[in-house]
Amino acid sequence: MISFWEKNSFLNYDCIIVGSGLLGLSTACEIRERFPDKEVLVLERGIFPTGASTKNAGFLCFGSLTEILADIETKGEANAIELVEKRWQGINLLKQRVVENKMDYLNYGGYELIDENSIGSIEKIEYVNNLLSGIFGGKVFELKNDKIKAFGFDSGFVRSLVYSPYEAQLDTGKMMRTLLKYAEFLGVQIHNGCEVIRIDNGNVVIRHNVLKEEVEFTSQNVIVCTNALLSELVPALKVKPGRGEVLITKPIKGLKFKGIFHYDEGYYYFRNFGDRVIFGGGRNLDFNTEETGEFGFNEKIISDLKKKLNEMILPGTEFEIESMWTGIMGFTADKLPVIHKVNENLTAALSCNGMGIALSSQVAREIVTTVFD
Ligand SMILES: Cc1cc2nc3c(=O)[nH]c(=O)nc-3n(C[C@H](O)[C@H](O)[C@H](O)COP(=O)(O)OP(=O)(O)OC[C@H]3O[C@@H](n4cnc5c(N)ncnc54)[C@H](O)[C@@H]3O)c2cc1C
Repeated sequence: MISFWEKNSFLNYDCIIVGSGLLGLSTACEIRERFPDKEVLVLERGIFPTGASTKNAGFLCFGSLTEILADIETKGEANAIELVEKRWQGINLLKQRVVENKMDYLNYGGYELIDENSIGSIEKIEYVNNLLSGIFGGKVFELKNDKIKAFGFDSGFVRSLVYSPYEAQLDTGKMMRTLLKYAEFLGVQIHNGCEVIRIDNGNVVIRHNVLKEEVEFTSQNVIVCTNALLSELVPALKVKPGRGEVLITKPIKGLKFKGIFHYDEGYYYFRNFGDRVIFGGGRNLDFNTEETGEFGFNEKIISDLKKKLNEMILPGTEFEIESMWTGIMGFTADKLPVIHKVNENLTAALSCNGMGIALSSQVAREIVTTVFD
């Protein structure tokens, strides 16, 4: 039974955000930065953020050459370029909020591995650089084929390497810890272990784990940032889950490369983490099975990742896998970020579609403008 005191002091807020991933926390910070008097509560189902934000690969990227070309094909030039610009703005906002050394930001650049199937894309480097010149002010992509051998990749398979100096990497865990601390410093309240089971008319309902009864939090402004699970609370917004599988090696003596690496329109990605390799992706091998919110592994994908690591990325190098994990992304049909005002009290938003580290801070800014301006 909720007490008179609890009802008076614990249940009503100016704004309630559901989900403490990058988007939920960035939105909470953005509100308190702009409106320090607003009482903001974040409700999170996990004991800490338990979506994609603590499971990703730590790439600070805005789209590789073939991804941008694929986006131009499917979304049109203007949408594809706007998306790159939002990601770039988001990266810069994140760097303002979480200073570089608090998230182990390292700018070793980014590379795309080009195989026989995508070799035609390198003829379009100039075209894409021209489209992006207004955003970055410099050459975004250039060939670095001399690095194929220096990095130890299989040169029969990797035909070309496209380099970008604007991409970087970070320590995902440190970034999220710092963002949580910063949100708390700003006065955001975060309740963990609170799974929201429904939202009606500004009432956000959870089941209290001790009282074993439903408890209603109330607010004029409820913002749902639950990523892959968004449709469970806001069925009007159609979001599909997509699982991502990731593995990390033990330290490798004499590892030859540093940087973030994309392959196959971004479906595969790897990087160094110190002298280890983090490698993930392969969802396109089995789209149907991977359209799930479950955290399990797909053996077909895991064995493909191990094969590619052996034959393409680390041929002739001895390594051991230290651990593996999975995380769940949320995808909209057009793969564009979305901010959907369901009614006066309720807004749902998704920044993900794969590059949420870059996009979340920018989308959070747009959410706050949509809700409060
Ligand atoms: C394997 C993998 C690798 C990735 N690599 C990269 C990368 O290198 N670079 C990049 O930019 N992006 C990457 N991404 C994408 C990026 O991680 C996401 O876009 C971003 O973290 C999304 O943030 P979010 O806050 O929207 O969602 P999430 O981090 O998923 O947060 C949603 C939160 O809502 C909570 N929640 C859900 N339902 C409820 C409920 N009913 N009640 C209360 N809480 C609830 C969840 O527990 C979760 O904490 C990757 C994603 C995955 C899965």
